[in-house]
Amino acid sequence: MLLADADGATMERQIRSDRDGTNRVGVRTMLLLAGLFAALNGLARRRRKTTEARAAEEAALRQDREAYLATIVEGSSDAILRATLDGEILTWNSGAQEMLGYTAEEMVGRSINEIVTPADADRQVELTRQIRLGNSVACSEGTRLHKDGTSVAVAMTFSPICQNGSGVVAMSCILRDISAARALEEALELRAFYDELTELPNRALLRDRLTHALERATRSGRFPAVILVDLDNFKAVNDSLGHGVGDSALVVVGARLRRAVRPMDTVARLGGDVFVVLVEDPEPGATIRAATRVLASLKAPTDVGGHTVVLRASAGIAVGRVGQGADELLGNADAAMYAAKAAGKGHWQVFAPEMHRAVLARLELTSELSGAVDRDELFVVYQPIVELCSGRILGAEALVRWQHPTHGLVSPLDFISIAEESGQIVDLGTFVLGQALEQLRRCQRDDPSFYLTVNVSPVQFRRPSFVRMVTTALRRAGVDPHRLVLEITETGLMTDVEANIVTLTELRGSGVRIAIDDFGTGYSSIAYLKRLPVDIVKIDKSLVDGVATEAGMWALVQAIFGLISAVGLETVAEGIEASAQVAHLEALGCTRGQGYHFARPLPGAELEGLVTASTSLPQPASPAATPPAAWLHAPPASA
Ligand code: C2E
Ligand code: MG
Ligand code: MG
Repeated sequence: MLLADADGATMERQIRSDRDGTNRVGVRTMLLLAGLFAALNGLARRRRKTTEARAAEEAALRQDREAYLATIVEGSSDAILRATLDGEILTWNSGAQEMLGYTAEEMVGRSINEIVTPADADRQVELTRQIRLGNSVACSEGTRLHKDGTSVAVAMTFSPICQNGSGVVAMSCILRDISAARALEEALELRAFYDELTELPNRALLRDRLTHALERATRSGRFPAVILVDLDNFKAVNDSLGHGVGDSALVVVGARLRRAVRPMDTVARLGGDVFVVLVEDPEPGATIRAATRVLASLKAPTDVGGHTVVLRASAGIAVGRVGQGADELLGNADAAMYAAKAAGKGHWQVFAPEMHRAVLARLELTSELSGAVDRDELFVVYQPIVELCSGRILGAEALVRWQHPTHGLVSPLDFISIAEESGQIVDLGTFVLGQALEQLRRCQRDDPSFYLTVNVSPVQFRRPSFVRMVTTALRRAGVDPHRLVLEITETGLMTDVEANIVTLTELRGSGVRIAIDDFGTGYSSIAYLKRLPVDIVKIDKSLVDGVATEAGMWALVQAIFGLISAVGLETVAEGIEASAQVAHLEALGCTRGQGYHFARPLPGAELEGLVTASTSLPQPASPAATPPAAWLHAPPASA
């Protein structure tokens, strides 16, 4: 530009000197040329100025943009990195450091594969292949390794980086941490498919697995089996010890079931105290063995929340067949479980089609039982308890009966468990106690030493108001509490022994005596027998049955009597049907008994008559020889 200026001035000077000279021809032209030259020079100068400014501007803009991008990359919480197509890391932002624990200094120059989890290795190879082809891969989910060895769930975006003429030269990779979303998804899935309390699969997951197992079996021919496990008298644990202890007990049950079966079997909790074991692909006999193990695993006493709880369960087994759905199979196992309960609890039963009818009948009885007291359908009969050597009536056991409007007489064996499950046992028990105390008052008029025993369900016994209910009833009836004996089964007493001892002590403090019923059928613990504040032990009929015929049973009963008398308790033998049994029992030191040999359960008025007449049993034409009216004793347990 300086050169152009200098040239222009020189040229003008030259033109002026020419004008002063002789050769004035073409001056005009020269001037014109000089002007033109100056103009062109100015134009070139201006153009040069604009290009330079634009270049500077662009450079500034580029710098701006780079700074801006760098700010975004550095400020991003996403991990943003660049790598060669061979996987060598070129850049590593602070988001990557935050997410994966490594600094840029540690990672630049290392392979991108070092942050790929083994599970994602194959996918990384595929991603790189796509990048080489020039394709972007957006939002692929995977996991990446943190420096501390844990894996981080990420959403990944891979993009090719191209260079003019050279094609794809590198890749950029953006990783977004989706651990929180994953954790939420997992938590939701856990809620949807797992039981919150026991963390076992729930009904939905069990149904799903069962459905698939049945589908597979249709092809393989090996059908799955289910074992439906229902705890016996669990309501009593909840009612007496509270739901907190009940919940802890359920957790223990879940863990024990898990240990009792193969790792491949599913143990699910359907809700409440109902668990299901799904035995897939069972070997012949494996399901029965599993059910036996499952029930045995529950028997050992458990300490929960400072209480000793003995849990028992009944189980129903059903095996799948062609065309059967999960619900049908579970329904069959349920019916089998009810059959097991009806047959005395604590056992398993295999499903048979007629069991459904029994379940329906049971449901019907449950609804009909409510209101049975109000409709005067329940009444109490009394079975004499006699002195074995003389046949003198010492007392009687009150036994409830239900005169059903259409089924006729229903056995307590069929409706007591229904009443316990539905909670109706509380009203029913109060009714029986009231009736029995009235009867006791009447019988005592003739024999002040006469006593009555009343059966108490563990469900009633564990209610906080039970002792108050008994003492109030005694006061109302105006009878000596010492003439009342409450019978509770040994199985009922062995659940939460410590709390039971407190209740038993309170009851005995009010003068009432306590008998352990059906001794020898349940959890017979002589150690507990020493600790329990009880007065009488009733030896179960199953032991009495064999005493005159089986040497082994005789020896067992002898040992039991020895232990019981050593503890200072009185014994009463139940279910005596033959005189030979009386002789053997007497020889063993048992002084009291009851059974059809002496008398069947009688209506109150008849009992009163016998007491008034100081009758000795059996009489010459004993009720054992000539059965009394059908309603006095219960029909078979199939009503
Ligand atoms: P349990 O308390 O052991 O009563 C004895 C059962 O054996 C009675 O059956 C009685 O009729 C029966 N029995 C007595 N002697 C003989 C005999 O020589 N041979 C045979 N084969 N049986 C005999 P029942 O009345 O059917 O009662 C069955 C069970 O129902 C009772 O067994 C008791 O556990 C329960 N139960 C009856 N009444 C009540 C009640 O009011 N409340 C409660 N919670 N349970 C009751
Ligand atoms: Mg009894
Ligand atoms: Mg009994």
